Amino acid sequence: TMAKILIATEKPFAKIAVDGIKEVAETAGLEIVLLEKYTEKAQLLAAVADVEAMIIRSDKIDNEVFDAAKNLKIVVRAGAGYDNVDLAAATAHGVVVMNTPGQNSNAVAELVFGMLVFAVRNFYNGKAGTELKGKKLGILAYGNVGRRVAHIAKGFDMDVYAYDAYCPAAAIESDGVKAVSSQDELFEKCEVVSLHIPATAETRQSINYALVGKMPKGGVLVNTARKEVINEPELLKLMQERTDLKYVTDIMPEADADFRMLEGRYFSTPKKMGAQTAEANINAGVAAAHQIAAFFKDGCTKYQVNK
Ligand code: NAD
Repeated sequence: TMAKILIATEKPFAKIAVDGIKEVAETAGLEIVLLEKYTEKAQLLAAVADVEAMIIRSDKIDNEVFDAAKNLKIVVRAGAGYDNVDLAAATAHGVVVMNTPGQNSNAVAELVFGMLVFAVRNFYNGKAGTELKGKKLGILAYGNVGRRVAHIAKGFDMDVYAYDAYCPAAAIESDGVKAVSSQDELFEKCEVVSLHIPATAETRQSINYALVGKMPKGGVLVNTARKEVINEPELLKLMQERTDLKYVTDIMPEADADFRMLEGRYFSTPKKMGAQTAEANINAGVAAAHQIAAFFKDGCTKYQVNK
């Protein structure tokens, strides 16, 4: 019998992406089952009962889901961040978890600049703003999105700096980007800082009063990473004191209502839309299908994140 892949997406893929996934699956002799726009966890628990594989987006996959998914071998998060999957529970159930790195990086990077121009032009309120040319841009974490941001920033003639805890300075410098030796130094130096760190135990709440407070006058903080990396009460307090700072984010803070009081200095997309492009949907969805096909065919575990 054909192995079944469940596409479980509370927020569905674009139809063209689903079609692409189906095509890859059919070619590999795998069957696709679709659970879109589910509203109750019970629907997810029922749908996972007899599938061998899952493709998900921001869907929360916890111990209860793994318990219900008796035949599950592999979950692929179509996207970069996989903090929505309980990796320890996956490992305990013998399930391989993968992401699809790099498939949505350009979409996210382009949004960074959309939000940046919007911010430095005073959210298009008609008043004179500033340009990005010549400004120092600090990229926090030089991964797939960070690298793409650096590339686009050069087109804007920005002065590009980066810091990554796990990427050697030489690798950053070889892209023509200036490496700094700490997170603190990045914030001290740069008028614009763009966050590209994953949400991990180490990064949660790490963007705080002391760190952002190091930014020069007129600083702009851009977040297309995760809301969990921000210490919201501290950032709010800082921005109440430093009326020169702006914050633009693709992940609405818990304290959105409070941030909105910082009139003319704050913007959040209504819902996360960094990876919401036709291209990123197709790229990530189809990559997920290919990764599952390779896993069943050859046991390929490249891109596994719970090794
Ligand atoms: P990536 O895995 O390619 O890069 C992450 C980088 O972070 C790596 O280079 C890693 O070395 C670095 N890093 C990890 N911990 C660090 C730390 N404590 N300090 C400094 N650097 C650290 O991921 P990516 O594709 O570049 O995406 C980055 C993050 O952006 C994702 O984890 C995700 O949370 C978020 N994201 C958001 C959207 C969106 O729709 N807004 C879309 C894609 C990704």
